Order: sequence, then structure tokens, then C-alpha cells
Amino acid sequence: MSEKEKMDRGHMRRPKRKACAFCVDKVEHIDYKDVAKLRRYVTERAKILPRRISGCCAKHQRQLTVAIKRARYIALLPYSAD
Ligand SMILES: [Zn+2]
Repeated sequence: MSEKEKMDRGHMRRPKRKACAFCVDKVEHIDYKDVAKLRRYVTERAKILPRRISGCCAKHQRQLTVAIKRARYIALLPYSAD
């Protein structure tokens, strides 16, 4: 591959920001009772996924954290997998 081709490829690579799943669904408030959804944002060790993994925007990541903590409090989700 020539240097020019490498350059072109470099320019082609446009890191597209993945849209927040909650924004896509136009979720205004994350329901802490929606365990099925919340479970997608915790690891197998019951840890909350960091934003870079979950792809959530700041607003929804914050809501998600609160929702998961509430769900844990009323025992809908575990605090840890152990
Ligand atoms: Zn969002």
C-alpha cells in the first residue's frame, strides 16, 4: 500500500459517535423498575458499565446510575455478583 493510500484511509476513518440508546428511544426518565433494560448496563459482576462502554450521553448515564442504585436498594438488582 502506498503512502498516499494510507493517508486516504486515515481520512476515511471518521469516528462516528454512537448515539445514546436512551436518546434514540427518546427516554425522558429511566425507570428503575425496568430491570430487563437496566441489566444491559451492568457487567456480569453487577458493576455499572462505564460511559465509554455503555455509549450513553452524560444525562442518561447519570439517570442510569441512579436507576441502578435504586433497583439495588429494593433488591431488583444485586450489589455484586458474589
Ligand atoms: Zn442520552
